[in-house]
Amino acid sequence: THFGFAEVRLDEKQGLVDEVFHKVASRYDLMNDLMSGGLHRAWKSAMTTAIGLPRGARRFDMLDVAGGTGDIAFRALKSGGPGVSVTVFDINQAMLDVGAARAAKRRLGDRVTFIQGNAEDLPFPDRSFDAVTIAFGIRNVPRIPVALKEMRRVLKPGGRLLVLEFSKVDVPGLAKVYDAFSFGVIPRLGQMVAGDGEPYRYLVESIRRFPDAETFAGMICDAGFEQVTATPMTGGVAALHVGFRI
Ligand code: SAM
Repeated sequence: THFGFAEVRLDEKQGLVDEVFHKVASRYDLMNDLMSGGLHRAWKSAMTTAIGLPRGARRFDMLDVAGGTGDIAFRALKSGGPGVSVTVFDINQAMLDVGAARAAKRRLGDRVTFIQGNAEDLPFPDRSFDAVTIAFGIRNVPRIPVALKEMRRVLKPGGRLLVLEFSKVDVPGLAKVYDAFSFGVIPRLGQMVAGDGEPYRYLVESIRRFPDAETFAGMICDAGFEQVTATPMTGGVAALHVGFRI
């Protein structure tokens, strides 16, 4: 059927994504710094602030979907109180292994858990988490509406979803520079640092295809979230979306 065909295409997409992150796991954080000129750090701190982490001892369970090497988790543990614990969830075991080694080194093993699986099928009971985050992960998920519904399901009522993702540049002068950089420089950087430019060409392409902030906010609403807001950052290179499960 034509539906069956669509399914195969989506599965191919996941395979490609897995290959990309398998190849780059050990160099992933360095590549982030090089490719964003360090900007991903500012974007991630904006998201960490927006989580609303308690500073006191109150218990706060957070799920970081597509959490990769644990960057968001470590930031949350640093800025929140001692009651904060984070589950890092990712489809790619190679990325999680890098994160788990880092957690052990920082002696954070009791506050962060690494679990492998697909964002479209979260292995957690309904209403488990106070907040769910996903940073630069949602565009890699084949069925985004399915993943958004899953993230809502595992949130406690009153809990919030925070999505950090590349967006559409809305400053005309910047758009040209950005295109030149992403199609010219990024695959070359990938070639130099990770030994392969091809995965990065795919990443740039996936950023291109991802919807603008308004359209994506609509998708978050469609998944049942309320009070959805979108905040463009750095002229729209990235955007932070927040929504609540009421
Ligand atoms: N959140 C981390 C960060 O900001 O540094 C990692 C982001 S990385 C660009 C994207 C991550 O999404 C990869 O670790 C990849 O394995 C993961 N991923 C891709 N598809 C996924 C899926 N269907 N379910 C869960 N994780 C997925």
